[in-house]
Amino acid sequence: ATIDAGDDDSAALRTLRRVFGYDSFRGFQREVIDHVVAGGDALVLMPTGGGKSLCYQIPALVRDGVAVVVSPLIALMQDQVDALTAVGVRAGFLNSTLDLDTRRLVEAEFVAGEIDLLYLAPEALASRATLNLLDRGRISLFAIDEAHCVSQWGHDFRPDYLNLSMLHERWPGVPRIALTATATSATRAEIATRLKLAEARHFVASFDRPNIQYRIAPKREARKQLLALLRDEHPGDAGIVYCLSRASVEKTAEFLLANGVDALPYHAGLDAGTRAANQQRFLRADGVVMVATIAFGMGIDKPDVRFVAHLDLPKSVEGYYQETGRAGRDGLPSTAWLAYGLQDVVQQRKMIDTSEGDLAHRRNLAAHLDAMLALCETVRCRRVQLLDYFGQSIDATCGNCDTCLEPPESWDGTIAAQKLLSTVFRLDRERNQRFGAGHCVDILLGRSTDKIVQHRHDALTVFGIGDELSEAEWRGVVRQLLAEGLLAVEGDYGTLALTEASAEVLGRRRTVMLRREPARPARSARAAKP
Ligand code: ADP
Ligand code: ZN
Repeated sequence: ATIDAGDDDSAALRTLRRVFGYDSFRGFQREVIDHVVAGGDALVLMPTGGGKSLCYQIPALVRDGVAVVVSPLIALMQDQVDALTAVGVRAGFLNSTLDLDTRRLVEAEFVAGEIDLLYLAPEALASRATLNLLDRGRISLFAIDEAHCVSQWGHDFRPDYLNLSMLHERWPGVPRIALTATATSATRAEIATRLKLAEARHFVASFDRPNIQYRIAPKREARKQLLALLRDEHPGDAGIVYCLSRASVEKTAEFLLANGVDALPYHAGLDAGTRAANQQRFLRADGVVMVATIAFGMGIDKPDVRFVAHLDLPKSVEGYYQETGRAGRDGLPSTAWLAYGLQDVVQQRKMIDTSEGDLAHRRNLAAHLDAMLALCETVRCRRVQLLDYFGQSIDATCGNCDTCLEPPESWDGTIAAQKLLSTVFRLDRERNQRFGAGHCVDILLGRSTDKIVQHRHDALTVFGIGDELSEAEWRGVVRQLLAEGLLAVEGDYGTLALTEASAEVLGRRRTVMLRREPARPARSARAAKP
């Protein structure tokens, strides 16, 4: 390594100052670095932007030999190596994008110990040639970045990560450091087991990101709501907009462009060249809005992302936390905004029902979705609920989320719930028919639509018994009952069906408290108050 380590302690600090130009360590970086420099294994959980890279880069410079960094982010390896080279650190990478000459050069540098870090894709370690290469050099440590990719239940699962447990068997004396921004204790345990990190010391940082303002709004016209957010609060700011489908990415990017926002699309259906070019523009230019599927963002180090917006419901709280965590890495105020509606619940329940995999897998997906829905429908502080999910508690409410800033009203929705569930019950039991949410709401509101007339649903006793609520409010009732499992959606058409728990509401054994739907967007509602 480049630094002569007389005294390991000061070598770490000297490296931080001289090479990286920072004054002091952040959080427990110091403890992790000391532990790994001394040859210990470590499992590091730190939120995005917390400073995980230095936890292995400094030991790589202080320890003898070359650090092997396993990373799934092939598209970013060049950037990572460039960033190190820019501060005078010798680093290289090996992946499928290299031509043969460059590959040979990097391999020679590794064997000769002329670099301090070598980045590899996990699949490379499945090849005998790579293993033989590694045997010819001197390895200072293994860093396993994005270690949650080993979790089979997780959203970023990479089968090649399972193979990484062999590092321990093949190079038992080499310290290993696994790093992730995924925080649940279940994932942590899974990483430790699958990577055979039984002896590793765990370093778990606080997952609070106080500068991020969390907001979850009922979805009306998502794109227009988004545009209003950008114009009112983030004009000219860089941000990321997540959509579930490629088509929706394309449409949203076009819509924003047509409205004067510097937006670019990013999804797996674009060719590699376009994706790379769009990513580069987002990283280098000011104020670009990236509209993307979740394929975008892992490992992106752009400090001044001022907002992350979700136009569709994330599948899990872990995913939501990671995606929103890409905002505000510089510590300045940033917004995490999510638009969420009935259709999201219907669509995701359907996706789970029709997903491949066994029952245990579908149950797992459903549990993740339920936790996400609970976060959306909570009347508590969003941050309290979010950190609670990750097993952390904060003392007070945060004052920087929508429920803190404008406490939502809750109301006794038991009677409304009974009306809705009776409608579903009548259609099902009396007529042996099932319909979607929109039709049931039309019945409750007493609308004589073609479909209602055609099916004679205006003759049902429940026809028109719900005109005390607006259509938006009824959709809110449906959404919240779905979120709580008091109602289910089934089949290809997203038809409504009762659940076992519905009987408790219909039998008046259970009250249903609901979150009141704001009549207008949260901001203008606040402005309109006297
Ligand atoms: P992570 O990988 O955890 O998301 P990074 O390692 O990319 O985070 O670090 C996030 C940002 O914080 C980077 O710009 C990095 O240079 C900066 N950083 C890390 N450690 C320190 C430190 N001790 N002092 C100042 N800045 C730091
Ligand atoms: Zn709060």
